[in-house]
Amino acid sequence: MGMRTDYRCTTCDARFTAGEGGGFFFDLLHCTDCGAAKSISHQDMGDIHLAFIKGLPVPYAMVRARMDARIKATFTGEPLDGEAYHEAVSKFAGPCTCGGTFTYEAPARCPGCRSTQESWEPTGGWVHYD
Ligand SMILES: [Zn+2]
Ligand SMILES: [Zn+2]
Repeated sequence: MGMRTDYRCTTCDARFTAGEGGGFFFDLLHCTDCGAAKSISHQDMGDIHLAFIKGLPVPYAMVRARMDARIKATFTGEPLDGEAYHEAVSKFAGPCTCGGTFTYEAPARCPGCRSTQESWEPTGGWVHYD
């Protein structure tokens, strides 16, 4: 699901690696201001993630179908829908060191000039995780 790629920024010539998407066992958020990435494991989220799984009509991922079925059967809290889940995780992530907020919607940014992906050139190294 998730992917990491090496890039060169065509605006400031910085070279860096950026990730996209979460994995089966963690989510990836970015800072709204500086674009810093923060991955949060579902295990660390605790009840937030369990409530989200509970609210899903289908398993989060086929490889997790059995685990998710067990969560639905044993979690007794209120289910969260996607939007409430994103909000809760964003809050859980806490503020970025720059003062920004980590969200699912924020794009990754160049560490040099904060440009977004349209200004980057992949330089290889497509690493798929999960
Ligand atoms: Zn930041
Ligand atoms: Zn740049």
